[in-house]
Amino acid sequence: MNPKQQQLQAQRIKTTTMTVVSSLLQSLLIGLFAWTGSTTWQVALGFFVLSGGSTSLFLLAVHRGWNLRFQDRWLLWAQLMANYVIQLIFIVAAPKLWMIFLASSLVSFNYAMLGFTSRQFHWTWLGFGASTALALWIGRDRFGYPELNNVNVVLLWLFFFLAVRRLALIGMQFSTLRAELSQRNKQLTLSLARIQELASHDDLTGAFNRRHFMELLLDERERSHRTRQPYSVALFDLDHFKTINDRFGHGGGDAVLRDFCTLVQAHMRVTDRFARWGGEEFVLLMPVTTPVESASLAVERIRSAVASHDWSCTSGLPSDLRVTVSAGVATCVPGESVEALVARADAALYQAKDAGRNCFVMAS
Ligand code: GH3
Ligand code: MG
Ligand code: MG
Repeated sequence: MNPKQQQLQAQRIKTTTMTVVSSLLQSLLIGLFAWTGSTTWQVALGFFVLSGGSTSLFLLAVHRGWNLRFQDRWLLWAQLMANYVIQLIFIVAAPKLWMIFLASSLVSFNYAMLGFTSRQFHWTWLGFGASTALALWIGRDRFGYPELNNVNVVLLWLFFFLAVRRLALIGMQFSTLRAELSQRNKQLTLSLARIQELASHDDLTGAFNRRHFMELLLDERERSHRTRQPYSVALFDLDHFKTINDRFGHGGGDAVLRDFCTLVQAHMRVTDRFARWGGEEFVLLMPVTTPVESASLAVERIRSAVASHDWSCTSGLPSDLRVTVSAGVATCVPGESVEALVARADAALYQAKDAGRNCFVMAS
């Protein structure tokens, strides 16, 4: 479970604990009625067992995480129906206390606020009206209040029915708000991912940008300092790139830059990090370059892949086009700053250019 899911599960445990407490309080209240003779001890005990038992079972289920196996992770429907059916049973079993049970069945609506849709609210309201009317009709002769005639009961039922309608309407508004909020959250998450992508990647090639690369390099320096494993940096510069632009236009040049990146990414190790340093210059971070030759082997692999690449397949440029790249490679020395390391790689790159291009030089 991620932290957000853990937080949600903790909330579920809290809410379900509250229902156990409220069911025990209601049991206590009915116990007091039994004590005053308004109902029997059997009713009080029955309610305690049914209501306390069912809510405790739900609490156990949420505590154990069994709820996570269901789509309805709050067990909303199950808890709502259990509470509702129990209240209805007791309207029939203890009609003298019908007002208490009717009022308590409204608690179900509080639950529904957590997840019901507008449609579900509507149907629950109608179901509430029909089933409470039925329960009251069954218990109608046993209310025990001589002054309470059938018309009064119908009026009281109507009062509850309309009160529930108001609750349902508020619930529907909640439901709309929840849907909007969740939609906004989704959009925000997408925007955040896009912003993070833009902040760390180069637009044209999709490789990391220079700023993000420097962060990665600093992290690598730290790691290398701790583990005493060396790391290396290679600076690449495409040879005579200006002539590619001159020949094929800026669009053709851009296509070569993109394909060059794809090519490097296909030939580097998964742990390597590749970024656009600027213009037609790129940089590769190679962690753990032991043995020492591993950095030069990796760079040579890339150099020869570029030199032999057929650009007609990927960039749609003539198949006789030859693109080459020069590189300067530097392996870290203890205590050296990342800037100094890159400067050594840069100096080595200049030497590679002087040496005739399409080659690499290891910095001393
Ligand atoms: P050298 O072998 O000495 O590196 O020669 P070069 O022509 O590659 O070097 P130079 O620095 O003279 O030219 C680099 C060219 O790269 C010039 C510039 O217009 C081009 N360039 C830089 N960024 C981009 C880009 O994003 N897209 C395209 N198409 N061209 C770019
Ligand atoms: Mg250049
Ligand atoms: Mg160049």
